[in-house]
Amino acid sequence: MVQGPGCSPKGRSSGRVCDVALTFDDGPDPGHTPKLLELLDKYQIKATFFLIGEKAARHRGVVQQIAAAGHALGNHSYSHAEPCQTTTAVFLDEIRRTRDLLETISNRPCTLVRPPKGVLSAGKQLGLWRLRMTIALWNVDPRDYSMHSRQQALTWGAAYRPRAGDIVLLHDNHPWATPIVQSVSRFRGHAGGVRFVRLSDWLQ
Ligand SMILES: [Zn+2]
Repeated sequence: MVQGPGCSPKGRSSGRVCDVALTFDDGPDPGHTPKLLELLDKYQIKATFFLIGEKAARHRGVVQQIAAAGHALGNHSYSHAEPCQTTTAVFLDEIRRTRDLLETISNRPCTLVRPPKGVLSAGKQLGLWRLRMTIALWNVDPRDYSMHSRQQALTWGAAYRPRAGDIVLLHDNHPWATPIVQSVSRFRGHAGGVRFVRLSDWLQ
């Protein structure tokens, strides 16, 4: 999955609402993730978190918080090893380990996977299909990991124009996902034309 479906009928009144998925990689982070969760809760936005297994093992409470808030959990490997330096066997073992951990902590199935840096060889891809995982990439990348200020994040948010099915890549191990969410939240609801969804909502 690189992009979600297009506009969906709005239902009650005229016009259309577009689905956009916000996704957060490289957490859980005990500093940044809880602040982000607070903001998502304030705006009633549901999102998807691609968690790194070894961080999830260290910060189980944060994983539980993410799950309890109704966000989708995704698998971002156990150690976030460099894709070109990881064999297929090691990679798939990391995915299995992370899946088992996230399913134990959250008590729900965890079949979404985003490979580190979005890089997959044919063998790794085949292995993920055999594990019945859904591979989720993205089509919008603000590069928040290389931003240096809140203003930079807000400027990106102000220029962003949502398109139906956008999958936005953000990182909750950096502070700039929060101001970006703050900015793009203006699009939410019928007035703004956007419904923020979890990737799992598109798979049902
Ligand atoms: Zn990553």
